[in-house]
Amino acid sequence: MSATEDFLTHEEEQAIVAAIRKAEDMTSGEIRVHLEDHTDLSPIERAKEVFAQLNMQQTEARNGVLFYVGVADHSFVILGDEGINRRVADDFWECTKDLVITHFKQKAYKKGLIAGIINAGEQLKKYFPVSKNDIDELPNEISKS
Ligand code: CA
Ligand code: CA
Repeated sequence: MSATEDFLTHEEEQAIVAAIRKAEDMTSGEIRVHLEDHTDLSPIERAKEVFAQLNMQQTEARNGVLFYVGVADHSFVILGDEGINRRVADDFWECTKDLVITHFKQKAYKKGLIAGIINAGEQLKKYFPVSKNDIDELPNEISKS
C-alpha cells in the first residue's frame, strides 16, 4: 500500500469529512482535503495544480480552500482562492497551518486535519458568513492521487 492509503483509516476519513461539513456550516467558504504521496514540484506549485484540477476556483465567492498533504514528502500547504486573498492579510493561514503541523509532528494526522479545518471555518466566517440557502459547492470527500 502507498503511504497515502495508510495515512488515515476509513473512520478517520469520515471524521474529517464531518469536520468539513461542520466548518461549512459556519462559512460559505468551501474546504477540500487532498492527499498524495509525492510530487516533483514544490508543494505550493503542486497545491495550485491540484486546486485547478479539482475545479476549486468554481465557487461563487472564490472562497475555496485546499488542504494539500504530501504524505511521503511530509509537506503540507493551505491554499485559499483569490476571493479570500483579496480580503485577508498574507499571514492569514499561518496559525491554522501551525496548528495542523503541531499535530502532524506527533503523527496525529486526523486530529491535526480536523483542528485545522474547524479553525479555518472559524477564521473564514468573519469574512464569509454562511447564508441560509448555502449550497455545498464543492464535494466534502477527501481526494487522493
Ligand atoms: Ca457552501
Ligand atoms: Ca463542501
